[in-house]
Amino acid sequence: MIVLKNCRLIPYLTDGYSNPTADIFIDGKHIQGIYPCGTQSCEDAECYDLNGKTVIPGYFDLHAHLMFTNQNWEYLMHRSESTYVMDSAAYAKTYLKLGYTTIRDAGNDYYASVTVRDNINSGVLTGARVITSGKILTPTTRGNSSFGTLYKEIDGADAMLKACREECAAGVDFIKYMCTGAMLNLGGVPGQIVTTPEELRAIVAAAEGLGTYVAAHCHGTLGIKEAIKAGVRTIEHASYMDEECVELILKRGNDICTVPTFAVAYSLVSELSGPVVPEFKSKTEDGIAHMAQGIHLCQAAGITIGFGTDLDMENAAKYPGIEFQARASYGVDNETILKQATIESAKILRMDDKLGTICVGKLADLVVVDGAPDEDISCMMKYPAMVWKEGVLFRD
Ligand SMILES: [Zn+2]
Repeated sequence: MIVLKNCRLIPYLTDGYSNPTADIFIDGKHIQGIYPCGTQSCEDAECYDLNGKTVIPGYFDLHAHLMFTNQNWEYLMHRSESTYVMDSAAYAKTYLKLGYTTIRDAGNDYYASVTVRDNINSGVLTGARVITSGKILTPTTRGNSSFGTLYKEIDGADAMLKACREECAAGVDFIKYMCTGAMLNLGGVPGQIVTTPEELRAIVAAAEGLGTYVAAHCHGTLGIKEAIKAGVRTIEHASYMDEECVELILKRGNDICTVPTFAVAYSLVSELSGPVVPEFKSKTEDGIAHMAQGIHLCQAAGITIGFGTDLDMENAAKYPGIEFQARASYGVDNETILKQATIESAKILRMDDKLGTICVGKLADLVVVDGAPDEDISCMMKYPAMVWKEGVLFRD
């Protein structure tokens, strides 16, 4: 048994317990009990006195790329396949240290993230829990070669089933599909739709037939609308949302979620890694401003909004909490940000029965924060004091 004594809790991130302080008992991988401080004996247990530090659920990054080591495109394009896999493992470990106990990889080459996921699950590697797609499936369009062989071109409704079967045979958890151009592809036009309604319907049906779903890369409004109509599970980036997009989601019964990704755009716009290719900078400047409007539209309508960074490992490590900071700087309130990073994202992955809040019976994915993020989100901009994943303390 492990006991975290004298924890400060945030009521809206805790289920079935309403005091603002507690001792948390962890048995194996799970939370065994949450009790008022000092009311339960912790003899024979491994005890950690947190002295009033805040404990919140492990964070989710629903849009990461484990291969995205830094913003040095020369390096990214010319490393060997084995380095690519090792870099992906390092990413998962770095994100765990940052407090992300679950990350969803939205596109990788060589099925590197499948290997990393399996080796983390078997205990060979230490890192965040990985949920992963494989190659990024895309219609033929400009810029697809910007990341070597990361993109796999498929055209026409008939080709979708085979492509999805190939991805699933390689062990992926979900399908990533490009609906619009990309910010970070040379020549890619983010506002432009690159697929057809027929192709979208076919890929959604193929994915669902294989027991999974489509996460659709969507910046432009038309792409978002067609993706919603076809029934994808998540709208990635969701940059140019308008009221009609929101209505379409609500009309479907609100079963589609958005995953905005502020951190990467924020890092490029602020030139955190030095000068940025001018084409990338102007596209992201426009994109992030609209993404911020979209998040408020969706929030007001009650649409589930996830937490995604899309960020490279080097900047994530250098600027902890950058996604929290970016959302706050665009006017999202602390409670909403903290829920998006935890329970809302858990719902999107349909893992909210075992993750996303601090609750007896759920997995002990816990982050100990020095400060009160519900009152002042800036305490998220440093490394957590402790990170627990499934009852195991992360040690560097
Ligand atoms: Zn991405």
